[in-house]
Amino acid sequence: MKIGFIGLGIMGLPMAKNLLKNGYALVVHNRSRKPVDELVALGAKPALSGREVAEKTDVIITMLPDSPDVKEVILGENGVIEGVRPGMVVVDMSTISPKVSVEIANALAAKGVDMLDAPVSGGQKGAIEGTLSIMVGGKKEVFERCLPIFRAMGRVIVHVGGNGAGEIVKLCNQVICALNIVSMCEGIALCKRTVVDVGKMIEVVSGGLGASNIISNLAPKILSGDMEPGFKLRLQQKDLRLALQLAEELRAPLLATGLAHQIFRIAEAKGLGEKGTQALIRAYEAIAE
Ligand code: NAP
Repeated sequence: MKIGFIGLGIMGLPMAKNLLKNGYALVVHNRSRKPVDELVALGAKPALSGREVAEKTDVIITMLPDSPDVKEVILGENGVIEGVRPGMVVVDMSTISPKVSVEIANALAAKGVDMLDAPVSGGQKGAIEGTLSIMVGGKKEVFERCLPIFRAMGRVIVHVGGNGAGEIVKLCNQVICALNIVSMCEGIALCKRTVVDVGKMIEVVSGGLGASNIISNLAPKILSGDMEPGFKLRLQQKDLRLALQLAEELRAPLLATGLAHQIFRIAEAKGLGEKGTQALIRAYEAIAE
């Protein structure tokens, strides 16, 4: 089975490497050339458009920033849809709007192509180590056919419903993660106002009920002043916007998420959108000044 991979950024590049390691033949495409060259050196074949990727493969994976990007790459000019054959599968692993995901799935279905939405959680570390959690929406039998591919990239892999269901679960995940980042930064900001060493606070909190993957991954970066992105703050804001939109449609109360979105906006306004989500600590430092 030949796999196409489009979108080779912080997540897509290591996920594609894991597919190569597991013996899959890959055809890859990305907007900038550097990650394509890196994968070609490891045995992948390059392609210049979504269309070319589709023409040369059986299953196509996309890992792109936002809904308009996925729409453009799959349905746009020279897009995947122009190169597909009936029976193929498109797997979008990006975090996008559930509604847009269903829209794309319907357009592909009209060409006899199945789609799965399969967003992930676990961050850059999970992508590198092949230990992502993968939440999958779409037909159960298509999910089962693609399971070996998912197993090359993830550990916990769950079929959560029809098209769009994976994205809904991912937005719930993002609400939980974002509020965890806010609570971590708030605890750190409080500790910084005292004589207590922040590192010691984190060490002991990490052994108690307040422990979390967010704290284990991000607190050390905050302590060392490393603001480089594992997950860009700008993309976190995109996810909160999508979660708040979904809540609006459902009339669901997301009180703290709305607040978190605004707190992250302070960091964005300070020009930190391309930094990692841990740069939220800078928003607290700005308020405290
Ligand atoms: P990223 O580092 O910004 O990577 C996005 C990649 O897509 C870049 O390589 C970019 O190319 C490429 N791209 C953008 N538009 C394109 C187009 N029209 N055609 C071809 N390639 C295009 O983002 P990421 O962190 O990997 O995130 C990807 C998705 O996964 C997002 O939906 C994000 O929310 C989700 N996610 C991220 C994490 C995380 O921890 N980072 C965790 C879970 C889920 P360039 O090189 O030209 O920019």
